[in-house]
Amino acid sequence: MKSSDCIFCRIVAGDLPAAVVYDDPQVVAFLDTGPIQPGHTLVIPKTHADTLHTCPPESLQAVSQVLGRIAHAVVKATQCDGYNCLCNNGRVAGQSVDHVHFHIIPRFAGDGFMQNWPAQSYAEGQMGRMAAEIKKKLE
Ligand code: AMP
Repeated sequence: MKSSDCIFCRIVAGDLPAAVVYDDPQVVAFLDTGPIQPGHTLVIPKTHADTLHTCPPESLQAVSQVLGRIAHAVVKATQCDGYNCLCNNGRVAGQSVDHVHFHIIPRFAGDGFMQNWPAQSYAEGQMGRMAAEIKKKLE
């Protein structure tokens, strides 16, 4: 994707307005315009990458340097009981903007968000085989 087609790149370039809460040379954070809760914040690397797995490590490192600090500020500002830090990748996972971003979503007891976590279990031997396969892909 060209960055001129990317709404988050346009925010980085200053071509689209945003409620910016944090800005440094590599990272910007701003409020989500469709918040799950007030204070729902998006943290993005300024350099365009579609997804987490295609994002250069330097960009992720820059984000990780400040993600916890921004989350802490959201906690203090919203007085939330907890928060989810989510990075959706691919349409099937709910990604609608193809510029990697981390949601910080304030959570409150009984808010009803993400009630469904349909955990499965592994068949005998399946977990070890899966782990071996992923390890191989990391070599
Ligand atoms: P995702 O579905 O994980 O790709 O999340 C994209 C998020 O970006 C959604 O929660 C949208 O509400 C939010 N969003 C879309 N356009 C804007 C915008 N111009 N400024 C702030 N947030 C936006």
